[in-house]
Amino acid sequence: MQVKAPRGTYDVLPPDSKKWQFIEQIIEETAHLFGYNEIRTPVFEHTELFERGVGETTDIVTKEMYTFQDKSNRSLTLRPEGTASCVRALVEHSVYGGVMPVKWYYSGPMFRYDRPQTGRYRQFHQFGVEAFGSHSPYLDAEIIMLLVQILHNLGLIDYELHLNSVGCPVCRETYRQILITHINPVKEKLCPDCQSRYEKNPLRVLDCKIEDCKQAITDFPFIFDHLCDNCKQHYNLVKSTLEAGGIHYLHDNNLVRGLDYYTNTAFEIHIPSIGAQSAVGGGGRYNGLVKACGGPDIPGIGFALGMERLLLALDGVPEYKEPYSSLDVFLAVLDDKYDVQAMQVLERLRTAKIMADRDYTGRSMKAQMKYADKLGARIVVLMGEDEVNRGFFTIRDMQSREQLEVKSEQIISAIKDILA
Ligand SMILES: [Zn+2]
Ligand SMILES: [Zn+2]
Repeated sequence: MQVKAPRGTYDVLPPDSKKWQFIEQIIEETAHLFGYNEIRTPVFEHTELFERGVGETTDIVTKEMYTFQDKSNRSLTLRPEGTASCVRALVEHSVYGGVMPVKWYYSGPMFRYDRPQTGRYRQFHQFGVEAFGSHSPYLDAEIIMLLVQILHNLGLIDYELHLNSVGCPVCRETYRQILITHINPVKEKLCPDCQSRYEKNPLRVLDCKIEDCKQAITDFPFIFDHLCDNCKQHYNLVKSTLEAGGIHYLHDNNLVRGLDYYTNTAFEIHIPSIGAQSAVGGGGRYNGLVKACGGPDIPGIGFALGMERLLLALDGVPEYKEPYSSLDVFLAVLDDKYDVQAMQVLERLRTAKIMADRDYTGRSMKAQMKYADKLGARIVVLMGEDEVNRGFFTIRDMQSREQLEVKSEQIISAIKDILA
């Protein structure tokens, strides 16, 4: 029986894995430039962390989690997102006792039992950043600037930044009443979930992905029009900082986050060229989350980027070239009686940080040259009777097609000269 990868998962093979490494490297370098350091958390956590940290009534928690009992009957869940684990680690290690703000980034696989479709998988990958411990609107701006810089560094310049403020508990209470009054006449048209939750949390109805709910709620009042003075000022400072930095944004009244712990700035990045599901990432402030997870009252803000969506977007960038995957040196061994010496030569090259390889399948000289081409070798070093007996190597520069002979002990410097 042939076993295949589970539905909604996939393998990344070379040379595509190079592309992943390239993207990850650019993202991590950019995050470092902004003062963010990496946190690595477990891939599974206690189920209740996500119930509290993602929200018990969300689709993620009610329908999409990979939850299982371990052999000691603990309920564990493969992480469906990255923020809850960061919050858990912040509280568990009392990191908030140290220097604020805490600025972290993470990247890795996440798991959701969702219907697989283009750019969406059951094991998918996210890069995210979290900053804890500051209310400053300039930190909101910094986080958005980081996201934008990552896209720029990847060569993704055709994006849309959607921006909104979802207010604070103070202004949200006023807005909640207004929204309930607005929804009440059409409540029968809503999905069962929304019917049961709209009085408690009417914002969730605006967030609902079910078409009936989207159709029923038209001309709804915007949270933006009901922000308190503090929230208005916060939002204006975020906007003016982005404007000063030349970052273009679209104010989007429809960008809402239904859960209580989300506050103030909310944003999403769309790349229209990847189709209807154009969001590649998003985030915002979540000043109530650390407390909701059992920690102290510490503000936070962050975003997450979907790596699969980013890769889709990069496919649409004409000037984006796959990173050149090549070999510095191919060692062509012309007689198998030099196999042991060949291994020594390879060892010398690799110790000198020269990427080197050879044939292991008994190819003829001609076939070895073909193979060297296929591996993208910059240089071919020939090793045959002449070379071994006279203590010389024949070196062929595959770009200029020039060939030269160098003494055995000078081979490293000769190769480095060509590679430089
Ligand atoms: Zn407010
Ligand atoms: Zn609904």
